[in-house]
Order: sequence, then C-alpha cells, then structure tokens
Amino acid sequence: MKIKTRFAPSPTGNLHFGNIRTALFSWLFANKYKGSFILRIEDTDVCRNITGSVDNIIKVMKWLKLHWNEKVYFQSKRLNFYNSIIDMMLQSGTAYKCYCSEDTLKNKKNIQILHSKNTRYNRKCRNLENNIYTTKKSFVVRFKNPLNGYVKFYDEIRGIIKFKNSEIDDFIIRRRNGIPTYNFCVVVDDLDMKITHVIRGEDHISNTPKQINIFSALNVPHPKYAHLPILLDIDYKKISKKNSNFNVIEYFKEGFLPEAILNYLVRLGWSHGDQEIFSLEQMKNLFSFKNVSKSSSIFDKKKLLWLNKYYINNLPTKNLISLFKYYISKENIDIKNGPRIEEVFQIFKDRCNSLRNMAISCRYLYDNNLNFKKIFIKKFFSKFYLVTLNIIYLHFKKIDSWKSSHIWNSILLMSKLNKLSLKNIIEPLRIIFTGDIVSPSISKIIYLFGKHKTLFNIKMYILYLKKQFI
Ligand code: GLU
Ligand code: ZN
Repeated sequence: MKIKTRFAPSPTGNLHFGNIRTALFSWLFANKYKGSFILRIEDTDVCRNITGSVDNIIKVMKWLKLHWNEKVYFQSKRLNFYNSIIDMMLQSGTAYKCYCSEDTLKNKKNIQILHSKNTRYNRKCRNLENNIYTTKKSFVVRFKNPLNGYVKFYDEIRGIIKFKNSEIDDFIIRRRNGIPTYNFCVVVDDLDMKITHVIRGEDHISNTPKQINIFSALNVPHPKYAHLPILLDIDYKKISKKNSNFNVIEYFKEGFLPEAILNYLVRLGWSHGDQEIFSLEQMKNLFSFKNVSKSSSIFDKKKLLWLNKYYINNLPTKNLISLFKYYISKENIDIKNGPRIEEVFQIFKDRCNSLRNMAISCRYLYDNNLNFKKIFIKKFFSKFYLVTLNIIYLHFKKIDSWKSSHIWNSILLMSKLNKLSLKNIIEPLRIIFTGDIVSPSISKIIYLFGKHKTLFNIKMYILYLKKQFI
C-alpha cells in the first residue's frame, strides 16, 4: 500500500505553529514510507475565508521545505463533484432534504441551549418524501446518520475510540446556498485522493465518527486516523490564528531558520529518547506514531531561540550567508563600505539567536558616522581616556598586518608598557566602535573595521574629547 497523507488547512488566517506541526507530522509519515503528501485548501466555508491566507499557507510550506507531491487542491473548485455525490445519496436515501426554515432551526437551537441540552436537529424531515415540496422552497441536505449502534475506530495515537450513533446529529452536508460542508467534502476528497492516513489535530476527533459514517454510507472503507494533541500557550490556552505570537510567518521575519522551527516542532509531542537535535532526514527516519504523546504540549519560544542559535552555529555557513544578507538588506544596512559579510557572520554567530538580531547587532560596522550615543560617551569618558586613546592610536598605527591576533597583542603590549589595565583600554574602544559596553571580542571588531577606519575614528574621538575636557 502506498502511504498518502494530506495537510488540509482552511484559509481562515495565517498558519500557526499547531497547524505547521500537523503538516510536519503528515509530511514525515508520508516521506518515511516513500509515500506522497498533498496540500489541500479547504475553502468551502466562504464566510470564514480570509484574503491572503492561501498565499500565506503556500509561502510558509515552501519556506519550511514541506514539499507536496501533487498540484495544490482547492475544494472550492470541486463543488460540482461533491454535489453530484450528494445527489446520488439523495437518490439512494442516505441523505435527505430538510425544508425547515432557518428561523425555525435557530429557535429550536436557542431553546435547547436555554435548557442546557445538546443542540440537535429533531429529524423532522428525515422521513418526508424528498419531492414533497416544490424545488422552489429552500432546503439544506442532511446526512441520514444511523440512529443506533456505535462508530468505533482505531486511532494510531490514542487507540480505540467509540461514539454512540444516537449522539450524532443528522448534520448538514449541503448548505442552503448549494455549497457542501466541511465534513462531507473531507470524506469525498480523502476517498478520491486515496488518502491512507488522516493526521490532524485532536480538535477534529468529534468529526471523525461523522466522516466514518459517510464512508460507510458510500460503501467504502475509511482511511486510518491519527489525532495529534493540541498546542497550548504558556497560559494553557489553545494557540490560535488570531494571536500573532504563534504566527509562523512572523518567525521568518524575525530571522528564524526552517531547520530550527521543524526541529522545535517535532519535539512538541514526539520524542526519541532524550535526543533534542534532529535533521529533517533523521526525523523522517525515526518518526512513528508510537512515540507521539497523547497530552498537549506548551509552546516555549525560549527553546526555539536556543535551537535557532544552535542551527546558526552548526549549519554550513555558505547556506546561511545569503540568508544573512537578506536580513541585512531588510534592515537597510548598506554593506558597500564595510567588512565582508562572511567575516562578520563568523564573528557574530555565537552571540546571536536569530539572523535578524545578528543583522541589527552588526549595524555599527557599516555606519560611516560613529558619533553615536554622545550622552553615553560623556557618561563613561573622562580626561583619562584622552591619554589612553592617544596611546592606543600610536600602537595601532604601528601594526603592519591587520589581524585580530596582532591587534590583541598590541593591546597587551600597550597595557604592559603603559601600566594600563586591559579594561581601561578595551572599554573606550568598545564604546567608540560599538556604541555599547558589550560586544564580540574587541580585537575582532577592530579588525573588521580595518586599519584606516579604526585610526580615523580614534582620531575623531580624540578631537571630540579634547573639545570636551580641555
Ligand atoms: N480544514 C481543517 C482545518 O483547518 C482540517 C481538516 C482535516 O484535516 O480533516 O482545521
Ligand atoms: Zn427539516
């Protein structure tokens, strides 16, 4: 049997981490068995569709390299197909037209809510002759759910799950406007697209018996099911598309790497011993439902940042440089007159947990005008630094081959010869060149500036301080 899975998002907003984890698990399972994985957009609930969501879905899936094997399917383009099957079911009596008006149905529902009862249709039209009314009267089509017995299925993660048929409504499968509903289209598609395993969030468990009953009404076997535990935020609330903290595309903008995101998500609800780091290839080989947890997991951005830093430091640099350049340009940093990006990347990588953060941190290297934070400088600098800067200037001037090791040796030498503490040499340099009191190793930063710019800037500050103190 060729394994086939699908990711079937509704275009009702931007994908969140819960959605993408479902996509990842479906992708892993299909690819582990050299099967195929498809992307299907479930857009029949027109009122809930949000413009831009489809673009977002495709962009995120491509960015994370969760490639699908067939064209992208849109349910909205298959309405005639679904309706032809509903018509067949009307003929065979497994579905029926319900002529109850919207108002009547709403009133009945409100009364049930008032009495804290489950809202259920009273099956008034279940046994009417289908042609009893003229076609002019509006109607919905309902599924004739079996009245007795059970629906039982084996969930790959949770084991056997059982529902009483008496607890399932005669749910609507075609709306008044002629558009079929989610529970129906899913069945037709999973059947038509030969899906072998439906992998989706546990919020769909209650839909599964309805869908299985439709499969039975169509006299075909149903696929296997695996319902994944949901993702929660730190307040134990289900994460939602409305909260941008979980919006996957925002993490692209923040400079996260696909490898970190996928590695993070695979560990949310799945484990392989206490291993934390997984390449996509490893996840694919090791994945199995057996090790998927039944309980929900909590989204923790700190761990994601840790993994992102790990991948920044461990993926082949050449793959990361062009991405780093992208974030540099997004920050409007002009790299024409400054150090080579490759060298900057090497020096900054172990301090930054995202590429955007790295781009922001290295901005000063490309700033032609280093007179930032005058107030800051005033706070730290004293007359004493004027003497120090003159010493530094003379020593740096003597360096022939501009390497960070030579710069460091020169700092050590000036400290020794002039009885200056390293702190007293490094601090003014750091403030002048980075505008901050923390930075990567100062000799490396000075190296990146180049000899000419370094001497020029020190000179500028000497002149500036002279004006302040003399
Ligand atoms: N369209 C559904 C959703 O976005 C998923 C349906 C399914 O996987 O069966 O929640
Ligand atoms: Zn009715």
